[in-house]
Amino acid sequence: MSELLIYLDGKFVPKSEAKVSVYDHGFLYGDGVFEGIRAYNGRVFKLKEHVDRLYDSAKAIAMDIPLTKEEMSEAILETLRKNNLKDAYIRPVVSRGVGDLGLDPRNCGKPCVVVIAQGWGAMYGDLYEVGLKAVSVCVRRNAPDSISPNIKSLNYLNNILAKIEANEKGGDEAIFLDHNGFVCEGSGDNIFVVKNNKVLTPYTISNLKGVTRATAIELLDEMGYKVIEANLGLFDLYTADEVFVTGTAAEAAPITRLDGRVIGTGKPGPMTMKMVEAFEKITQSTGAPIYK
Ligand SMILES: *Cc1c(COP(=O)(O)O)cnc(C)c1O
Repeated sequence: MSELLIYLDGKFVPKSEAKVSVYDHGFLYGDGVFEGIRAYNGRVFKLKEHVDRLYDSAKAIAMDIPLTKEEMSEAILETLRKNNLKDAYIRPVVSRGVGDLGLDPRNCGKPCVVVIAQGWGAMYGDLYEVGLKAVSVCVRRNAPDSISPNIKSLNYLNNILAKIEANEKGGDEAIFLDHNGFVCEGSGDNIFVVKNNKVLTPYTISNLKGVTRATAIELLDEMGYKVIEANLGLFDLYTADEVFVTGTAAEAAPITRLDGRVIGTGKPGPMTMKMVEAFEKITQSTGAPIYK
């Protein structure tokens, strides 16, 4: 098998040679933004939405990406073509660029643009059938007046701390609360609660505005279930009929245990299963074609 080719500042370089400077502020300070995108069956799912969000994240940290959105989309598609990929996980990264040891971004040159694309199957393996065991964590989600959780930034320590805590407590996924005790999201996915045939999800002030979240809302709407945004507490999760999380990496995944409580019947519920099915269908049949 030939070596994976990585897009790095306009060139395609073999994985073993794809390197950035230790003076890049992405490395020194986590100063930059990223995306996580999937391609299914020769199409990139929601490419425009992901590229738009990448530019929104960049704008929020006052960084100009040195490519147009069209050029970025083409770089993503070309990375897939160069590696003959039809099904893939794609990771565009834009870091602030090479600066000095001070944190002032004005001393950084051009932002560095990387696109990695590789095969990656179901993130949670065979857990989709039994459901994930989640734990709520002590570390709170970044407040919106701190590093906004709406920014998919390279500074993911908040999420990593949650993951470490979940690992420590034996959970497959972490559930974040904000400083008011409201449920925010998982460490890298949005959360949905089903109770008495109603579907609820937190407002996006405290979480990433997930492309999969928006897709799930659309799909549920088409099935005749209006999703209601609400402030939710752990009580709402413990007593839910079903809980599931959504994200590009995780896709749609049921949560059947939380903090030692069994959620609903303890098995992935009917609404969750319908969602998973509809999500699979839409990802297999829509998206930006990679090959002409
Ligand atoms: C990426 C991400 C999500 C999910 O967003 P998608 O657009 O559905 O992939 C949710 N929460 C966090 C913290 C994320 O980083």
